[in-house]
Amino acid sequence: MSVVREIAAPSNQVATFDLLRVPALGRFLRWRYSRIAFQVPLLFVGMLMVAHAFWGPQLAPKNLAALLTWVHFRGLVVVVILLVGNLFCMACPFMLPRELARRWFHPRWNWPPALRNKWPAIVLFVFVLFVYELCDLWSDPWWTGVLIVGYFVAATVVDALFTGASFCKHVCPVGQFNFLGSALSPLEVAIRDKDVCTHCKTHDCIQGRRDHSGETDMSTLKRLPVIQRGCELELFQPNKVGNLDCTFCLDCVYACPHDNVGIMTRLPAAELTISGTRSGVGIFERRFDLTMLVTVFTFGAVLNAFAMISPVYALEQWAAGVTGLRVEWPILSGIFIVVLVLEPAIILGAAAAVTRWGVATREPILGVVNRFARSLIPIGFGIWLAHYGFHFFTGFLTVIPVAQNAVIQAIGQPLLGEPLWQLSGFSAAIVFPMQVGFMGLGLLGSWIVAAVIARDMSPTRTWSAFAPWAVVHALLFASAYWIMMQPMDMRGTFLGA
Ligand code: SF4
Ligand code: SF4
Repeated sequence: MSVVREIAAPSNQVATFDLLRVPALGRFLRWRYSRIAFQVPLLFVGMLMVAHAFWGPQLAPKNLAALLTWVHFRGLVVVVILLVGNLFCMACPFMLPRELARRWFHPRWNWPPALRNKWPAIVLFVFVLFVYELCDLWSDPWWTGVLIVGYFVAATVVDALFTGASFCKHVCPVGQFNFLGSALSPLEVAIRDKDVCTHCKTHDCIQGRRDHSGETDMSTLKRLPVIQRGCELELFQPNKVGNLDCTFCLDCVYACPHDNVGIMTRLPAAELTISGTRSGVGIFERRFDLTMLVTVFTFGAVLNAFAMISPVYALEQWAAGVTGLRVEWPILSGIFIVVLVLEPAIILGAAAAVTRWGVATREPILGVVNRFARSLIPIGFGIWLAHYGFHFFTGFLTVIPVAQNAVIQAIGQPLLGEPLWQLSGFSAAIVFPMQVGFMGLGLLGSWIVAAVIARDMSPTRTWSAFAPWAVVHALLFASAYWIMMQPMDMRGTFLGA
């Protein structure tokens, strides 16, 4: 069977590549336990990291928890999202204890309606960024271990109490990061043939699959026990758009009785140009919580990179001198408020005001900001990629001597050989052009998305709608470029020690 097939589109036929049609790989992925096969090794690695965090050396470059979390995990996540898709959520080890817990604790509560949005995750996202800077988590294996254990506990408790995938959809900051980043991925879980869904009566991809054998009465069918759950993220396949909120868990693949769900190729970032209602998400451009999530994601990328260079220390010292403060948290809070709240409010508000004037519309400023917010995602992801990619590509081999050293400390024998501490990764001179390339691609993606949004907003004054946002994206690129030009802390590796 060909792995390239034609699927029906509203106006044309689109040739797509379906990963689930690849002979051996597709069969493995369609196997109901394939997700667990990914999760178990990662859970094992997670347990090793926790053990090393609490009982291993407390020097971060020699500790598996600090090194793998802050250098390898973060770097691999963004690289894999760019090249493939949201595979981390697919293989997420935090979900394994949760699945086990659900064998004994059947959640009874629905997630509170007031929190059925991204606000809990936004608060946690900012909290983690803040604690990371305040406590220098990258240099603290013990607290990194606490963070990992806390994550396991939080995921298990939330999903033991609340139905569905409440933790993934509303709480997990890593998941939100992956959801936004995977808008740039080349793969998405999607239907193969719209006609099949049109004639589908049971909608098992979201309702869950029941034992259909011989039963045709829908009211009776709905009372039968579910033998394969449907999408816990509330994404109904025929109306699903893109990767937002999709954990790549493949439950919809296993549940669909018509084998009509695949993992399809698509144009990266194209989902950001689509307006209208999305299943499980609603209307992106009317959700202020999504605007805030994108804002924190994008400006947080700049802030997180800025915190790695020496000017931030000069800024903190200057603020301490002016205010007389002798503790860091109020100063750091001030920097966070300026970069994540005031700066976006001024910049995005100004861009929206100019757009309103340019296209002569009475749409509220907040409405215009909401409309263009998703155009920030490509440049935001480009900055994260440049930053995390720097640490990963300059230090990816450092895991070898740290693992060798850990084995010696654990069993007293150099089973993996003597530690090769000289191993590191590519030189910064090689990585810098890659960083610029990632950010350049992000800038281009943001411009293209903004241009499409501008055209939809005003076909006759597209340039007037587009120009202010193009300037915003260029400003973000320029500030990130300046940051990447500075000498960076080599966090988690010996190179800068
Ligand atoms: S994806 Fe499958 S279960 Fe869902 S509507 Fe389409 S055919 Fe039905
Ligand atoms: S079940 Fe939902 S979250 Fe899982 S892969 Fe399908 S659409 Fe994505």
